[in-house]
This record gives sequence, C-alpha cells and structure tokens, in this order.
Amino acid sequence: MRRYDAGMQSEFHHASIIIDDPLLRENYGFLNYRKLLNLMDKHNFFTTIAFIPFNYNRTDKRIATLFRERPDRFSLCVHGCDHVKGEFGRTDLNYLDNKVKLATARMIEHEKRMGIPFDRIMVFPQGIFSNAALEALKKNNYLAAVNTEAMPVDGHISSTFPFYLRYKPEDVADCVSDPIFIVLHHDYFKNGYERLTDFVDELNTRSKNLKWGSLGNIVRSFVSANEVDYNPAGIDLSGLKFHGYKENVKILFRRHASEFRDNYLCKNDFLLNCAKQVKNLISK
Ligand SMILES: [Zn+2]
Repeated sequence: MRRYDAGMQSEFHHASIIIDDPLLRENYGFLNYRKLLNLMDKHNFFTTIAFIPFNYNRTDKRIATLFRERPDRFSLCVHGCDHVKGEFGRTDLNYLDNKVKLATARMIEHEKRMGIPFDRIMVFPQGIFSNAALEALKKNNYLAAVNTEAMPVDGHISSTFPFYLRYKPEDVADCVSDPIFIVLHHDYFKNGYERLTDFVDELNTRSKNLKWGSLGNIVRSFVSANEVDYNPAGIDLSGLKFHGYKENVKILFRRHASEFRDNYLCKNDFLLNCAKQVKNLISK
C-alpha cells in the first residue's frame, strides 16, 4: 500500500474539507453553499465536494456559476457511481471497471454541461471497497482513492494504487499526518456553522504552515507526474447507460429517499424518529 504520511513534504501541511453527497443546489440539508463560501473566505479553508455521478444532470445553474467563479475555494471529486450500498465492495474487476467508466462518463458530462471540472479521485460510498476497486481506478487513470478506513472487503490493501485516509473533525486533534483530509456531511451544520469555523480556526492556529486546497491539487503535489498522465480518449463516453430499467428505477428511488431524509426528515426530529421506527419495523 502506498501511503503518504508526515514528513514526506517539507514545510507545509495540506488540508481539505470533504463534504459527501450533496447536490449542487442553493441548499442541501443544512448546507448552504453561499454561506459556506463566505466563511471559507473569512476563516481561510477549502471544501471539496464528494459528488455522486448519478446526479450529473441535477445541478443548479447558479451554484454551478459559484463553483466556476471560485475554484480557489470549491472543487469536486467523485463519490461512487450510483451511491448504492457496497457498489465498490465487489471483487469482479470487469464489473468495477464498468462502474468507474460510467461514473467518469457522468462526471465528464456534468463538466460539459456545467463547466465545473472534477478531479479523478474516488471517495468510496459508505467507505466500502475492494482491492479490485483500487485496480479499476488505476486502470482508468484515477489519481487516488480517499477513504475513512484502510480496510477493503478482501482483507488488507494489496494494491499499489495511491490511497489516502481521511478523518472526522474529532479525530483530527491528534493527527499529525500530511495531508489532513476531513470528512463531513451536511448535518454537521445542523446547529449552524460555528462548530466548523471553530474547528478550522483551531487547526489554522495550531499548524501555522497549513495549506488549504482541493483534493486534486493536494494529491498531485504528492504523486509523481507520470501517475497523473490522463488518457481521456480511453474513456468510453457512450457508456452512460449501464443498468437495466428495473435497476435504474431502484437506484432512482434510493437517491430520492436519501435526499428526502437529508432535506426534510433531518430537519424535523419527530419525523426523523418516526422514520427510524418504521425502518426498524420493516427490517425486523
Ligand atoms: Zn455518501
């Protein structure tokens, strides 16, 4: 396993906040992009959005403009493909290769439509992945994978593909690694943004040489030049159709259910509890 830890880069430590899942809309759950941008300017930090490729045609034009205008504060990386459970936890390389190709084709389509570039870095949904998934990323000229745990479904990491850990804010306190990738979800802002700005202020005070940036730029400063030699011509752009009709309906239903939870249920504790109880009853 190739990891990049403290000491490999000299004077700076690198950091990026990574927010998983949100659509690029004015608001997603408790997240508001304009508010976040305002705070990034004021407190000096950077946010990479782990974008679900399935959502490639659902971005709000005004938020796309915001991302295009402020690449110094916002960037996108790839978060799964359909974001269904364990989609990168399978071990069939051919299946995974197709998944990565579909995810990439969707991200390219999103870039074409909205003008927002993305970095070929994968954040695995639910943190589930296999060694074959790392190989599929390598085959498709991805730069790296980022995950909260270094535990593939098939034991330990045997792939040499660049792999980085990320941390929850509460685990960063003792972290001396470089880079420092910090994972959040929209509900981190449930009681406002102070929790985040306090955390960032403390980090900026503690590490005087902290350099905030996109996941892509940070990873590029660690991996060697020939590893970033993209081959866009090798990616099959015609592959936007992958699943059968039934599977697509299921995926669509799951995405909308998650978004309903993030945008409505999460904001109402009573409804959220009811939903949890119904879910428990169904799964019994
Ligand atoms: Zn996710």
